[in-house]
Amino acid sequence: MAVYLCHEYPDLYEHEATIIDAAPGRLVLDRSAFHPGGGGQVSDTGWLDHAAGTVDVTGVDNVDGVIWHVLADDALELAGPVVLRVDHERRSRVAQLHTDSHVLNALVYESFPGTLVTGAQINDDGTGRMDFDLSEVDNDVLRALDGGVNDVIRRGVEVRSVYVDAGDASAVAGLVRSLSVAPPPTPDGTLRVIDIDGVDRQACGGTHLSNTAQSRPFRITKVENKGKRNRRIRFTLD
Ligand SMILES: [Zn+2]
Repeated sequence: MAVYLCHEYPDLYEHEATIIDAAPGRLVLDRSAFHPGGGGQVSDTGWLDHAAGTVDVTGVDNVDGVIWHVLADDALELAGPVVLRVDHERRSRVAQLHTDSHVLNALVYESFPGTLVTGAQINDDGTGRMDFDLSEVDNDVLRALDGGVNDVIRRGVEVRSVYVDAGDASAVAGLVRSLSVAPPPTPDGTLRVIDIDGVDRQACGGTHLSNTAQSRPFRITKVENKGKRNRRIRFTLD
Protein backbone atom coordinates (compact mmCIF):
# COMPACT_ATOMS: atom_id res chain seq x y z
CA MET A 1 0.00 0.00 0.00
CA ALA A 2 1.89 2.99 -1.23
CA VAL A 3 -0.60 5.73 -0.40
CA TYR A 4 -1.69 5.59 3.21
CA LEU A 5 -5.34 5.76 4.22
CA CYS A 6 -4.30 8.24 6.93
CA HIS A 7 -3.03 10.57 4.18
CA GLU A 8 -6.28 10.39 2.21
CA TYR A 9 -8.49 10.64 5.30
CA PRO A 10 -6.52 12.35 8.08
CA ASP A 11 -9.63 12.56 10.31
CA LEU A 12 -10.49 8.86 10.07
CA TYR A 13 -9.97 7.38 13.53
CA GLU A 14 -12.29 4.37 13.44
CA HIS A 15 -13.35 2.04 10.66
CA GLU A 16 -14.39 -1.49 9.83
CA ALA A 17 -11.84 -3.79 8.26
CA THR A 18 -11.36 -7.42 7.34
CA ILE A 19 -8.45 -9.57 8.43
CA ILE A 20 -6.68 -10.88 5.34
CA ASP A 21 -3.73 -12.58 7.04
CA ALA A 22 -3.15 -13.59 10.64
CA ALA A 23 -0.64 -15.22 12.95
CA PRO A 24 -0.64 -15.46 16.77
CA GLY A 25 -0.48 -11.90 18.09
CA ARG A 26 -0.46 -10.17 14.70
CA LEU A 27 -2.60 -9.60 11.65
CA VAL A 28 -2.90 -7.84 8.32
CA LEU A 29 -6.04 -5.85 7.47
CA ASP A 30 -7.54 -5.07 4.08
CA ARG A 31 -7.45 -1.39 5.07
CA SER A 32 -5.97 0.52 7.98
CA ALA A 33 -5.97 4.14 9.10
CA PHE A 34 -2.85 3.48 11.16
CA HIS A 35 0.21 5.46 10.18
CA PRO A 36 2.92 2.79 9.94
CA GLY A 37 5.65 5.09 11.24
CA GLY A 38 8.96 5.67 9.54
CA GLY A 39 11.16 8.65 8.82
CA GLY A 40 11.71 9.10 12.54
CA GLN A 41 8.05 9.06 13.45
CA VAL A 42 6.56 6.37 15.69
CA SER A 43 3.62 4.38 14.31
CA ASP A 44 0.04 4.80 15.46
CA THR A 45 -1.34 2.55 18.17
CA GLY A 46 -4.93 1.87 19.17
CA TRP A 47 -7.47 -0.87 19.60
CA LEU A 48 -9.12 -3.64 17.65
CA ASP A 49 -12.72 -4.64 18.40
CA HIS A 50 -13.33 -8.26 17.39
CA ALA A 51 -16.12 -10.81 17.87
CA ALA A 52 -14.94 -11.79 21.35
CA GLY A 53 -13.78 -8.44 22.75
CA THR A 54 -11.20 -5.70 22.35
CA VAL A 55 -7.42 -5.99 22.15
CA ASP A 56 -4.76 -3.26 22.24
CA VAL A 57 -2.80 -2.75 19.03
CA THR A 58 0.68 -1.83 20.24
CA GLY A 59 2.20 -0.87 16.91
CA VAL A 60 2.93 -2.09 13.43
CA ASP A 61 5.62 -4.23 11.89
CA ASN A 62 6.34 -3.29 8.28
CA VAL A 63 7.55 -6.45 6.53
CA ASP A 64 8.48 -5.59 2.92
CA GLY A 65 5.59 -3.13 2.71
CA VAL A 66 3.05 -5.45 4.35
CA ILE A 67 1.68 -3.78 7.46
CA TRP A 68 1.32 -6.26 10.32
CA HIS A 69 -0.68 -4.91 13.25
CA VAL A 70 0.91 -6.16 16.47
CA LEU A 71 -1.50 -7.15 19.26
CA ALA A 72 -0.90 -6.85 23.00
CA ASP A 73 -1.99 -10.50 23.37
CA ASP A 74 0.68 -12.50 21.57
CA ALA A 75 -1.34 -15.73 21.60
CA LEU A 76 -4.48 -14.27 20.05
CA GLU A 77 -5.16 -15.31 16.47
CA LEU A 78 -8.16 -13.60 14.91
CA ALA A 79 -10.17 -13.86 11.71
CA GLY A 80 -13.04 -12.08 10.02
CA PRO A 81 -14.41 -8.56 10.31
CA VAL A 82 -13.16 -6.17 13.00
CA VAL A 83 -13.24 -2.50 13.90
CA LEU A 84 -9.91 -0.69 14.10
CA ARG A 85 -9.60 2.41 16.29
CA VAL A 86 -6.68 4.83 16.27
CA ASP A 87 -5.42 6.32 19.54
CA HIS A 88 -6.46 9.88 18.75
CA GLU A 89 -4.54 11.51 21.59
CA ARG A 90 -1.27 9.87 20.68
CA ARG A 91 -1.77 10.68 16.97
CA SER A 92 -2.44 14.31 17.89
CA ARG A 93 0.66 14.55 20.13
CA VAL A 94 2.88 13.14 17.39
CA ALA A 95 1.26 15.39 14.73
CA GLN A 96 1.87 18.47 16.87
CA LEU A 97 5.54 17.63 17.35
CA HIS A 98 5.92 16.67 13.73
CA THR A 99 4.35 19.86 12.40
CA ASP A 100 6.38 21.96 14.83
CA SER A 101 9.53 20.18 13.70
CA HIS A 102 8.85 21.33 10.12
CA VAL A 103 8.63 24.92 11.38
CA LEU A 104 11.84 24.50 13.37
CA ASN A 105 13.49 23.02 10.29
CA ALA A 106 12.37 26.03 8.23
CA LEU A 107 13.77 28.46 10.78
CA VAL A 108 17.11 26.65 10.88
CA TYR A 109 17.16 26.50 7.07
CA GLU A 110 16.37 30.23 6.85
CA SER A 111 19.01 31.22 9.43
CA PHE A 112 21.67 28.90 8.03
CA PRO A 113 20.91 28.39 4.31
CA GLY A 114 21.41 24.92 2.92
CA THR A 115 21.39 23.18 6.30
CA LEU A 116 20.45 19.52 6.03
CA VAL A 117 18.58 17.41 8.55
CA THR A 118 20.71 14.40 9.42
CA GLY A 119 18.20 12.70 11.69
CA ALA A 120 14.85 13.14 13.37
CA GLN A 121 12.87 11.29 16.00
CA ILE A 122 9.30 12.03 17.06
CA ASN A 123 8.27 10.09 20.15
CA ASP A 124 4.82 9.33 21.54
CA ASP A 125 5.65 10.83 24.96
CA GLY A 126 5.54 14.41 23.69
CA THR A 127 9.25 14.79 23.01
CA GLY A 128 11.35 14.77 19.87
CA ARG A 129 14.70 15.70 18.43
CA MET A 130 16.18 16.89 15.17
CA ASP A 131 19.81 16.63 14.12
CA PHE A 132 21.26 19.20 11.75
CA ASP A 133 24.46 19.28 9.76
CA LEU A 134 25.73 22.47 11.39
CA SER A 135 29.18 23.25 12.66
CA GLU A 136 29.97 26.94 13.17
CA VAL A 137 26.92 27.89 15.20
CA ASP A 138 26.41 29.18 18.72
CA ASN A 139 24.12 26.73 20.54
CA ASP A 140 22.34 29.63 22.27
CA VAL A 141 21.21 30.90 18.87
CA LEU A 142 19.67 27.49 18.15
CA ARG A 143 18.10 27.29 21.61
CA ALA A 144 16.29 30.60 21.02
CA LEU A 145 14.56 29.34 17.87
CA ASP A 146 11.56 28.05 19.84
CA GLY A 147 10.33 31.66 20.02
CA GLY A 148 9.96 31.68 16.24
CA VAL A 149 8.15 28.31 16.29
CA ASN A 150 5.69 29.65 18.87
CA ASP A 151 5.10 32.73 16.71
CA VAL A 152 3.98 30.46 13.87
CA ILE A 153 1.75 28.46 16.26
CA ARG A 154 0.15 31.71 17.49
CA ARG A 155 -0.41 32.97 13.94
CA GLY A 156 -2.56 29.92 13.12
CA VAL A 157 -1.01 29.08 9.76
CA GLU A 158 -2.80 26.62 7.47
CA VAL A 159 -1.06 23.28 6.80
CA ARG A 160 -1.90 21.41 3.58
CA SER A 161 -0.64 18.25 1.95
CA VAL A 162 -0.23 18.43 -1.81
CA TYR A 163 1.17 16.04 -4.38
CA VAL A 164 3.80 17.22 -6.84
CA ASP A 165 5.60 15.48 -9.67
CA ALA A 166 8.67 13.79 -8.21
CA GLY A 167 10.79 14.92 -11.17
CA ASP A 168 9.93 18.58 -10.59
CA ALA A 169 10.34 18.26 -6.86
CA SER A 170 14.04 17.54 -7.07
CA ALA A 171 14.47 20.82 -8.97
CA VAL A 172 12.96 22.88 -6.16
CA ALA A 173 15.73 23.81 -3.72
CA GLY A 174 14.91 22.88 -0.17
CA LEU A 175 11.88 20.74 -0.93
CA VAL A 176 13.67 17.48 -0.35
CA ARG A 177 16.22 18.60 2.17
CA SER A 178 16.36 15.74 4.59
CA LEU A 179 19.17 13.25 4.53
CA SER A 180 17.28 10.54 6.32
CA VAL A 181 13.55 11.33 6.38
CA ALA A 182 12.44 9.62 3.21
CA PRO A 183 8.90 10.35 2.05
CA PRO A 184 6.90 7.32 0.91
CA PRO A 185 6.70 6.56 -2.80
CA THR A 186 3.37 6.77 -4.60
CA PRO A 187 2.38 4.53 -7.52
CA ASP A 188 2.14 7.43 -9.99
CA GLY A 189 5.53 8.96 -9.24
CA THR A 190 4.29 11.89 -7.20
CA LEU A 191 5.74 13.20 -3.99
CA ARG A 192 3.68 14.24 -0.98
CA VAL A 193 4.60 17.74 0.11
CA ILE A 194 3.56 19.36 3.37
CA ASP A 195 2.92 23.05 2.78
CA ILE A 196 2.83 25.25 5.87
CA ASP A 197 1.58 28.38 4.16
CA GLY A 198 4.45 30.80 3.66
CA VAL A 199 6.61 29.04 6.24
CA ASP A 200 7.76 25.70 4.90
CA ARG A 201 7.28 23.32 1.99
CA GLN A 202 8.82 19.94 2.39
CA ALA A 203 8.37 16.40 1.14
CA CYS A 204 7.12 14.27 4.03
CA GLY A 205 5.09 11.13 4.68
CA GLY A 206 4.26 11.72 8.35
CA THR A 207 1.12 12.89 10.14
CA HIS A 208 0.59 16.63 10.62
CA LEU A 209 -1.91 19.18 11.91
CA SER A 210 -4.19 21.08 9.52
CA ASN A 211 -3.41 24.40 11.24
CA THR A 212 -0.42 25.35 13.42
CA ALA A 213 -2.80 26.79 16.04
CA GLN A 214 -3.69 23.17 16.96
CA SER A 215 -0.25 22.78 18.56
CA ARG A 216 0.45 23.35 22.21
CA PRO A 217 3.39 25.70 22.89
CA PHE A 218 6.74 24.34 21.73
CA ARG A 219 9.91 24.42 23.81
CA ILE A 220 13.52 23.57 22.99
CA THR A 221 14.91 21.75 26.01
CA LYS A 222 18.49 21.14 24.96
CA VAL A 223 21.02 21.65 22.18
CA GLU A 224 23.88 19.17 22.04
CA ASN A 225 26.94 18.75 19.87
CA LYS A 226 26.90 15.39 18.14
CA GLY A 227 30.26 14.87 16.57
CA LYS A 228 32.12 17.53 14.64
CA ARG A 229 29.37 18.60 12.29
CA ASN A 230 26.08 17.80 13.96
CA ARG A 231 23.84 19.62 16.41
CA ARG A 232 21.00 17.82 18.13
CA ILE A 233 18.01 19.97 19.13
CA ARG A 234 15.71 18.33 21.71
CA PHE A 235 12.20 19.66 22.14
CA THR A 236 8.90 19.09 23.87
CA LEU A 237 5.33 20.37 24.05
CA ASP A 238 4.43 22.55 27.04
ZN1 LIG B 1 6.39 15.84 8.28
